[in-house]
Amino acid sequence: MIVKADRDKCAGHARCWVLAPNLFELDDEGYILPGDIPIPPEQEQLAGRAVRACPERALQIVKD
Ligand code: SF4
Repeated sequence: MIVKADRDKCAGHARCWVLAPNLFELDDEGYILPGDIPIPPEQEQLAGRAVRACPERALQIVKD
């Protein structure tokens, strides 16, 4: 699974990071680092929860 992070939509709530700090990296101002995030199979469920927890829809599953 790959999760795409859209920095332009991110509002810096850090909900993704609270759920999965090892998957979602934030910059110094608390915004998501943009780009494709490869998700190891054993972390897919957690990543899915983080995607759904983002109120700005800044995270998107682009490949299952
Ligand atoms: S939960 Fe969404 S809006 Fe908040 S930091 Fe993560 S990607 Fe950005």
